[in-house]
Amino acid sequence: MPEGNEIHRWAERHETAFAGKLVRVDGPQGRFTDSGLLDGRKLRRVMAVGKHLGYDFGAGRILHIHLGLQGDFTEGKGSLPPVKGALRLRLWNPAAVTWTEIETAPALRRLRYSQNDGSKELPAEQIAWVELRGPMDCTVYDERRWNELLERLGPDPLNGDGPERVLERMAKSRKPVGALLMDQEVAAGIGNIYRAELLFRARLSPFVPGREVPAAVARSIWKDAKALMRAGMVDRRIVTTEKRDRPSYKLMGDRGRGSLGVVLPEELHYVYRRHGKPCLVCGAEVKKQEMEGRNLYWCPSCQA
Ligand SMILES: [Zn+2]
Repeated sequence: MPEGNEIHRWAERHETAFAGKLVRVDGPQGRFTDSGLLDGRKLRRVMAVGKHLGYDFGAGRILHIHLGLQGDFTEGKGSLPPVKGALRLRLWNPAAVTWTEIETAPALRRLRYSQNDGSKELPAEQIAWVELRGPMDCTVYDERRWNELLERLGPDPLNGDGPERVLERMAKSRKPVGALLMDQEVAAGIGNIYRAELLFRARLSPFVPGREVPAAVARSIWKDAKALMRAGMVDRRIVTTEKRDRPSYKLMGDRGRGSLGVVLPEELHYVYRRHGKPCLVCGAEVKKQEMEGRNLYWCPSCQA
């Protein structure tokens, strides 16, 4: 599932491409029937909170999108591509879409999440249309409903929020910190990759009850989340390892393959999906276990 870095990135791109413009919206396969509420209106801004997107069309009309596990955007320039696949919604700038042009270039379709470093992406200013497929939710909210959502969500590291409310919730909870970090009401936008990696970087066991996490540690995790997630917006991949800990760097130094500004896929993370492999720092075997329905990864030695 895309985490907050990805959601904020979409918000920034779509705001750059469409905010302040009269945009067209439709659901050409009948999978989005509220397009009449939005079509032809000016898009004011695009908001991101945690894993939620809100496209503000004014007059209290906010298009709420949650990508969930399967949801994905396609974007492009030139003419709208032929309708195909399980297309939920299209949004386009009629002044930028060229209707006469024969579609020659295939639509730019994203690779799987986290396998794409963003290097072949369109500049956001050139996006003329966006397609949405497979979201968990795509609904027109009124302001009351949007505000209710905001009230439920915890602070978001990418919205400049401070850690105070996270600390408060943690201090009251016996739940393990690994579960609390994934709880969107505690902290919005952190998902499975960042959860595992932030705890490793803090050398904190995911099983420590929230109320036993020292406030200074919780604050430093929050600070780390801000920096890591911001970096994940820019290069799209989630990279959490420090250069000095990457095996290719240890082996070859600055002459190594991994030191040319490219992070090798197997060196992106310390523990996420590295179960059964040696910890990059201490060599102990990385473990995996289910916690509240999601796989948790950790090093039992570094995070004792
Ligand atoms: Zn370790």
